[in-house]
Amino acid sequence: MIQEAITNYKLQHTITTLSPLKAILFDMDGVIFDSMPYHALSWVNAFKQVGITFSEYEVYLNEGRTGASTIHNEFLSQKHRQASDAEIKELYALKSQHFEACGKPIAMNYATETLDRVKHLGLDIFLVTGSGQVSLLNTLNTYFPAVFSKQNMVTAYDVTHGKPHPEPYLIALEKGNLQAQQAFVVENAPLGIQAAVAANIFTVAINTGILEDKVLLEAGANIVVPSLADFYHLLPSLVENWK
Ligand code: CA
Repeated sequence: MIQEAITNYKLQHTITTLSPLKAILFDMDGVIFDSMPYHALSWVNAFKQVGITFSEYEVYLNEGRTGASTIHNEFLSQKHRQASDAEIKELYALKSQHFEACGKPIAMNYATETLDRVKHLGLDIFLVTGSGQVSLLNTLNTYFPAVFSKQNMVTAYDVTHGKPHPEPYLIALEKGNLQAQQAFVVENAPLGIQAAVAANIFTVAINTGILEDKVLLEAGANIVVPSLADFYHLLPSLVENWK
């Protein structure tokens, strides 16, 4: 499966030999943190309070979009008008309240083991997230001491365009002084996969949510695995076949 995926990637990009792998770029929600069930519940409830029907499935489909853009789209399709800035702000605040009421997000099963394994393989770690949560760095440091710093993170504050635009991943490549083929991405959401693929980076999707594998493959994922634990076990052979 891995060899075939790497061969296909090389064919797509007309590369005969890959440069040595230097880094892995991780998305955060749904990859490092098991936070998507909280986001889903929060969005569904917040929208319900303003008379908009938004399913959990739609939350997963839209994951990675900015809050404002998600609200904007649903107002247009269901209320047939633009949402005002005040409405966007209010609804996003409501969503954030629901999210905070869920408690602190928990680390994804195998997140620590995976990050340790990446370090032991001598690869750099980058975090590329659309999140703009202020306490983010503190939370990351609590769960994963000495792994993340401002130097190896791209957050909502660093970009003009969010995912599915390639900018967040292009900035990560720039920060790491990396060519696209010297890294690969680990993502869970269709829009995140699209962003990574648009930045020409090999993309491993881990299907930790409720979407079908085919949705992630159609977004352009090179490989889909069912969990971060599966990725952890696959990692050595992925590194070995990177040539
Ligand atoms: Ca995600």
